[in-house]
Amino acid sequence: MGNYKLKCLDCGSEYKSDYRLKCDNDDSFLRAEYQTTRLELKNVLGMGKFHDWLPIKKILTTDAAPITYQSEELARELGLKSLYIGFSGYWPERGGLIKTCSFKELEAHPTMQRLTESGKLAIVIASAGNTSRSFAHVSAMTGIDVYLVVPHFGLPSMWLPEEPTDSIHLISMDKSNDYTDAINLAERIAKLPGMVSEGGARNVARRDGMGTVMLDAAITIKRIPDHYFQAVGSGTGAIAAWEAGIRLHADGRFGNHLPKLQLAQNLPFLPMTNAWNAKRREIIPEIDMQDPKKQIDEIYAKVLSNRSPPYSVTGGLYDALTATSGLMYAITNQEAKEAQTLFESLEGIDILPPSAVAVASLLKAVDLDRIQPDEVVLLNIAGGGTERLKEDYTLSRIKPITNVENPDVPLEDLIRACKH
Ligand SMILES: *Cc1c(COP(=O)(O)O)cnc(C)c1O
Ligand SMILES: [Zn+2]
Repeated sequence: MGNYKLKCLDCGSEYKSDYRLKCDNDDSFLRAEYQTTRLELKNVLGMGKFHDWLPIKKILTTDAAPITYQSEELARELGLKSLYIGFSGYWPERGGLIKTCSFKELEAHPTMQRLTESGKLAIVIASAGNTSRSFAHVSAMTGIDVYLVVPHFGLPSMWLPEEPTDSIHLISMDKSNDYTDAINLAERIAKLPGMVSEGGARNVARRDGMGTVMLDAAITIKRIPDHYFQAVGSGTGAIAAWEAGIRLHADGRFGNHLPKLQLAQNLPFLPMTNAWNAKRREIIPEIDMQDPKKQIDEIYAKVLSNRSPPYSVTGGLYDALTATSGLMYAITNQEAKEAQTLFESLEGIDILPPSAVAVASLLKAVDLDRIQPDEVVLLNIAGGGTERLKEDYTLSRIKPITNVENPDVPLEDLIRACKH
């Protein structure tokens, strides 16, 4: 037995800790229930300090971790007394050492560890950007095999702060294929013996890894924040923040409330914003995302483009928003870019486009009086520091091991190509 069990949020079934992603009876999320209800930090540098609430046996040794600091400049500009920035990226002056520059790395470390602890050999991921890069980095650090299926447009994000290793198998998709083709191919590969799909939001290691942003904030502020701001693509990070809030609440030392989720998407692609503002648990594609391909082409923050997010599922984003009386925003490209310039000049670090969307939603919330000046606010800057990183590191490209033209390629051929 590990330090946790998995509990179904619908029927209450309990499972011992393994790589399971689904309940036998229904489609609901499983949640990790940890033996330790009072969080005690382990004496290590990186995110391993939150070991009590991570679904793994061995303490992580990476120095990657989220950081939290109190803003002065942006806080003054907005007239907020207690604005805290949660930053996941590279910013060594403040202790930020995530060299793949986003909170996806907080998912990758515990997920890869959990994989080896449950006897699997390799993990399969379909992603266009930050996620593939994070898992590739952890593969380079640990030697654990990853198979990354990346659509053509995602190849520019496939860089690393170190030399790529043979454990990274990058399969690029030809221009004629889209993201859905990449997902379908990854699902086929994951069915091979020894392989496993990373599982997305259903994987508690991903959620609880991202939840460390909220844990770090609560430890730093000594209380659960009143408001939590983040830009959402799948919503996994926000679900994770809610679940971390539930655990901190039960801990007892951090306050008797949950953080109010204030989340943003990038106009015109707004499936979750539209559904939530219409008070619906279901996303109705004809209403909430008409012509999604065109909409996704237009948005500035491309990672916020998930077409089937875990919104309706029990334990998903609709439930998280409901439990926290959450709010959702629609941010234009122009608003995001202006917010980015403002943030970068006031706080002194470069940020990724989705984080610019999060900053813009905070500006909007202040304008609309949705925060009181003395309330405690956590702004999750989930990605940044790529420009800062280039000052210290020479980045390497990950080279595709094969380029797939036909997504129905026989798997034997594909795996043989990967072995060379
Ligand atoms: C992935 C990502 C997001 C969105 O997170 P979700 O969990 O998919 O909602 C926001 N910002 C950055 C920097 C990201 O990499
Ligand atoms: Zn169940």
